[in-house]
Amino acid sequence: MIKVHASAGDEDLAMVYIVETSPGNLVECVESVQPPLPREKKWVLLVSTMFGCPIGCLMCDAGGHYHGKPTRDEILAQIDFLVDKRFPDRIIPCDQFKIQFARMGEPSLNSQVLDVLQELPQRYQAPGLMPSISTVAPAGTRRFFDRLLEIKQEYYPAGHFQFQVSLHTTDTELRDRFIPVKKWSFTQIAEYGEHFFTPGDRKITLNFALAQDMPVDPVVLLRFFNPEKFLIKITPLNPTYRARENELVSYVNPLSAGQKYELIQALQDAGYQVILSIGETEENRIGSNCGQYLRTHLSSELPIEDGYTYQVKPSP
Ligand code: SF4
Repeated sequence: MIKVHASAGDEDLAMVYIVETSPGNLVECVESVQPPLPREKKWVLLVSTMFGCPIGCLMCDAGGHYHGKPTRDEILAQIDFLVDKRFPDRIIPCDQFKIQFARMGEPSLNSQVLDVLQELPQRYQAPGLMPSISTVAPAGTRRFFDRLLEIKQEYYPAGHFQFQVSLHTTDTELRDRFIPVKKWSFTQIAEYGEHFFTPGDRKITLNFALAQDMPVDPVVLLRFFNPEKFLIKITPLNPTYRARENELVSYVNPLSAGQKYELIQALQDAGYQVILSIGETEENRIGSNCGQYLRTHLSSELPIEDGYTYQVKPSP
């Protein structure tokens, strides 16, 4: 049984929960909808796959404080907790029921995530179930990804799985600074992606949480990533303590969804499908967006102006 320590947010948009999955081990999990779509159309859960994260990406508040990995049951407990609040009979009638293994932790460093992926289809009656694995592709994870491919083929065919790799820039030196661990080269990511993608699957997403002065060169991308199999997702750099500390400024203005960007045009001209993913700015205030982490906020003495402004309510 997990114990809820605190929560923040708006029931109609996004709720973040700080929960204890085993004695002394706190993680965060999130549920959100994407207005104007009602929950029955799209419901998104985010769960944690590690206690802290050993990667330490420059913009991420969840990095650091690494002290171990939740078990399969501790990951499932987060999902059960969020599901049981809305659908206690575990029948989930949402057209798209997305579970992102992305709140805190690099999923490929916890093999229990694979056991969770195998369990989900029998645990819930959810025709819209779509797990989403987002990775920075750390070195030494080949076995995880080989098994992931088998699981995707067996349990999640025909577009029921989303695979995302976070690159953040095409400049390899900057990539090394931004994601400061040994990781797969573009060649290795491209080879795996080619192998992973089966016709009928969703295209593999290349993520760029784009900071100013972080080049994204379509020529470099085309050398490795086939636009028939890979798409580009650009997100703003969300307001985090680490981004502020590292003086990172977002390339994309999260307050202006209609703004045009030269880079996006250049990527489209190169043949890529480009998704500019600007979430609700309200989610920044709640602290539910990518890279945000309530516990960093709670221990900070200098709050961020446009992030984490919702009150965190301790559970009774
Ligand atoms: S972005 Fe993901 S991999 Fe990077 S430090 Fe944060 S949780 Fe870890």
